[in-house]
Amino acid sequence: MSQNRTIYLDHAATTPVDGRVLDKMLPYLKDIYGNPSSSHRSGQRASRALSWARNTVAEALGANPSEVVFTSCGTESDNLALRGVVFSRWARGKHIITSHIEHHAVENTCLQLAERFGYEITFLPVDRYGRVAPEQVREAIRPDTALISIMYANNEIGTVQPIADIGLIAREHDIPFHTDAVQAPGQLPLDVGALHVDLMSLSGHKFYAPKGVGVLYVREGLDLLPVQTGGKQEHGLRAGTQNVPYIVALAEGLSLAVDEREEEADRVRGLRDRLIDELVNSIDGCHLTGHPRRRLPNNASFVFEGVDGEAVQMHLSMAGIATSTGSACASGEDEPSHVLRALDMDPRLAQGSLRLSLGRATTEDDIERTIAKLSPIVEKLRDMSLF
Ligand SMILES: *Cc1c(COP(=O)(O)O)cnc(C)c1O
Repeated sequence: MSQNRTIYLDHAATTPVDGRVLDKMLPYLKDIYGNPSSSHRSGQRASRALSWARNTVAEALGANPSEVVFTSCGTESDNLALRGVVFSRWARGKHIITSHIEHHAVENTCLQLAERFGYEITFLPVDRYGRVAPEQVREAIRPDTALISIMYANNEIGTVQPIADIGLIAREHDIPFHTDAVQAPGQLPLDVGALHVDLMSLSGHKFYAPKGVGVLYVREGLDLLPVQTGGKQEHGLRAGTQNVPYIVALAEGLSLAVDEREEEADRVRGLRDRLIDELVNSIDGCHLTGHPRRRLPNNASFVFEGVDGEAVQMHLSMAGIATSTGSACASGEDEPSHVLRALDMDPRLAQGSLRLSLGRATTEDDIERTIAKLSPIVEKLRDMSLF
């Protein structure tokens, strides 16, 4: 294997398009270009593809096709879930429960609802592993609570939340429950019945379909005010001509992710555990962030004492290894990410954060080479005491 091949360990940021997904979508970019709302033959072919995609996604989620809404990305799904629910029941209350470690798509939507629309937001704290306690959700519920939104698994530290328990509490109180499950496909079970969720966001490019297409699962009977108005597409919940090729790709990608999940998650977890054991044991001052067991099988996230995560990430990048950091300049901010800050860790320690997220193409050799490269980089940076 070429020594120059990039080792891509940033699958939590995005994944490459799987060849099988590309093959499935190409005819809809080339020949089958009709508008699925048109009644002529070309439109009807597109419409059949759209139905196939909707049925396929529904099956992957244990849902009905009428509960599947295609969107343009995970961020849009989160926005539609939050705004759609709270605006449809604004007369019943203006309180939202969420957590301190949500993706910006949820966090900043909540902040805007608070600042511009008078909503009150309870941001639940997390423990040092990044877990939300279901009992705290119960205690935060008020008569005017309109929505609970807690992510399934965190994109930075990989911690998996007790979604099914939170969902049961929400249901007891008859409050709609949304989960941002964008990191879950291919990693965790997705059955919306078992998870007790009313709304669930997914994004194609996190499971080997293209960027720019997403899904929102919306439980039958739940009222949702459309955020984007226009035509009657997507059961009237999301106007705009559907992006048929990308929707077909998303459905194929999701179905592969679900079918191959158990085997692939086991394989990746094995590699991931080797990476964690080796780094924590061989590098002084290297700590795992997130939950030791209840975490995404492909996520390894760390903090290193006395180094800047940004510098580690840059040196790895120069060595042909793509990773990411939740600290400092990555986001153009001077501070560690809001997720690391929520973990109650020394902010100086949080500056040394690094996330490695594995995927389908990750090999044992990738992991061994990453282990071999990382330790000298951390040592060198400490010697230079750039921090
Ligand atoms: C990537 C991601 C999103 C955003 O999805 P986009 O399709 O990139 O808009 C939302 N939530 C989580 C947890 C993510 O990892």
